[in-house]
Amino acid sequence: MAGRNHLYIPGPTNVPNEILNAMHVNMEDHRSPVFPKLLTPLLQDLKKIFKTETGQAFIFPATGTAGWEVALTNTLNPGDKVLIYRFGQFSHLWAEMAKRLGFDVEIHQEVWGKGIPLDRMEARLKEDTNHEIKAVLATHNETATGVTSDIGGVRKALNAANHPALLFVDGVSSIASLDFRMDEWGVDGAISGSQKGFMMPAGGAFLAFSQKALAAVETSTYPRCFLDLKDQMNTNKDGYTPYTPALPILYGLRKALDLLQEEGLENVYARHHRLAEGVRKAVAAWGLTTCAQPGFASDTVTAIIVPADKDARDVISTAFSRYDISLGAGLSELAGKAFRIGHVGDMNDVSMLGAIAGVEMAMLDNGFDFKPGVGVAAAIEYYRSTAN
Ligand SMILES: *Cc1c(COP(=O)(O)O)cnc(C)c1O
Repeated sequence: MAGRNHLYIPGPTNVPNEILNAMHVNMEDHRSPVFPKLLTPLLQDLKKIFKTETGQAFIFPATGTAGWEVALTNTLNPGDKVLIYRFGQFSHLWAEMAKRLGFDVEIHQEVWGKGIPLDRMEARLKEDTNHEIKAVLATHNETATGVTSDIGGVRKALNAANHPALLFVDGVSSIASLDFRMDEWGVDGAISGSQKGFMMPAGGAFLAFSQKALAAVETSTYPRCFLDLKDQMNTNKDGYTPYTPALPILYGLRKALDLLQEEGLENVYARHHRLAEGVRKAVAAWGLTTCAQPGFASDTVTAIIVPADKDARDVISTAFSRYDISLGAGLSELAGKAFRIGHVGDMNDVSMLGAIAGVEMAMLDNGFDFKPGVGVAAAIEYYRSTAN
């Protein structure tokens, strides 16, 4: 097929040519005297994306999943109790990891389509007067359902309960694309990855930890090796890494940070919001609904529910085979019931309109009942009226 495949999944996302080109480097000696000139500024500049001045940033040659593990195994002790609200496949997987690593996981099952229930979380924390809960695991943007939770609100709940638990946040599909404020929200461990808002290939886990979390690293007895933060701290302080770094990822990150800073983070967030709004206008015009309930809609991914007599997998496969566009599948309990359009990363009005048009064609081919063009028309009107 001529032309290119169009990637509209919520990660990996489209990689800007500037980043691809920056990653195309020959290998270097990572013990050379000049290597710190690359690594040290990366660790400094990453902090700006996390919005932390007091925390410390880390880079692992890994993915977001490893980031979950770094947070748990570096700060807690075996068997510690952690609290998690589960409302989608990613919060589910984090909870399962914590179980497999031998923590005492208190899971609260929530509706898929809503986020963290702040009032109930606050009540639960207040009840825990002995402070048995050592960490709260919060999924900021549940990529499976297209739901964003209020992390500032989670901090308020912890404070209202005067609870000392560490706050760990999965920001894999939010950091560098949605408003995220590590210091202001009192986040102790922020976890992200290279292949979503950072617009890079997978292979970099980007993390930041508060001083409170770093103090917990000193007392944690959990066995760890490859993912040990102490090894990172001991070598990062001189601009080096404990083992061979993924050099292209570092060069890609240099360029990604430059692009994000150049655009300005507030503009990056506004761009994602506007693109997401256009998709939501199209969904409404098709007469469909999103998995996200009011107040929870994500600006990086929209999960669209298909009518009960339709299978979302047919839309995805028609879109791929006939129109060469890639959509996100419904995961786990949403399999067949939803498909997802990613609007995270390197996107603009016309790329979003390509997604909306392609989805519309695939749905019409599968007998969906709406007038051709209604979704595209709604999005066009919105983008035109809000273009600057
Ligand atoms: C993509 C994603 C992950 C998993 O990251 P990997 O890089 O696949 O390990 C975790 N959490 C969220 C919210 C995600 O979107």
